[in-house]
Amino acid sequence: MSRRSCLHTFSEGNPMPQFVLVLAVVALVLVVESVLRARNYNGKKHNVIFMGAPGAGKGTQASRLAKDLNIPHLSSGDLLRKAVQQGTPTGDEIKSYIEKGQLAPDDLINKMIAEELSKPNYKDGFILDGYPRTVEQAEFLDDYLDEDNRYITAVVELQVDEEVLVERIAGRRICGNGQCNASYHLKFKPPLVPGTCDLCRRPLIQRADDTEAVLRERIERHEQRIVPLLQHYHHQGTLKEIKGEGPLEEIYDDILLSLGI
Ligand code: AMP
Repeated sequence: MSRRSCLHTFSEGNPMPQFVLVLAVVALVLVVESVLRARNYNGKKHNVIFMGAPGAGKGTQASRLAKDLNIPHLSSGDLLRKAVQQGTPTGDEIKSYIEKGQLAPDDLINKMIAEELSKPNYKDGFILDGYPRTVEQAEFLDDYLDEDNRYITAVVELQVDEEVLVERIAGRRICGNGQCNASYHLKFKPPLVPGTCDLCRRPLIQRADDTEAVLRERIERHEQRIVPLLQHYHHQGTLKEIKGEGPLEEIYDDILLSLGI
């Protein structure tokens, strides 16, 4: 049978093979999608906390993981800065703490985080970044989640040397437009036009708490605070220690591996 007559038989003589072909393609697409999903979700719910000093890369890795798992990424720093920009009463109260690089009071931040985590889009998993920062916050979070039959599934600690942190943070610039939040680095990720946001063309600014002096103070206080916090999660068996230096891709792969994804 010639190629032409064969095609003729398939397309006109007998519609069944075409139907089977369409079914096969649909089945293949579904299988591929479920394999990809399984790779990302691994059938588990992920309630993950990212920890690390300022500049350890928590934000970058946390937002990538949240995107891949299709769950929300809640950064306490972003939440607080948004409140400050909006001039809410809580924002006004918190402003001076952020500018001095000091922690906002536990009860204030606990209330804000609980309010956020109660929203429906957090029920299928979430990534926390920047919270909890004290044992009191961690205990509050445990109790809060427990009441809702939820729990923290993993705590990823990104470990980075202090001098690397200073280089990363002191060169950081963010877009001054509160709605944009794009982030740059003078050395590692410069904007196309110096001092100007690539996305919205507004001027870039340095966060008041990103200067070297404030930063070193933040790192020192972070070190003191993180030890009991790490112990808290070590006892729970959820702590994953990851080296946060080197190519971003490799760090991300280590994180996935530690989460069993
Ligand atoms: P970050 O962007 O995570 O470095 O946070 C910026 C600032 O927000 C911190 O220096 C604190 O003043 C405040 N902040 C963020 N998260 C917390 C938290 N969990 N507890 C208290 N203060 C916080």
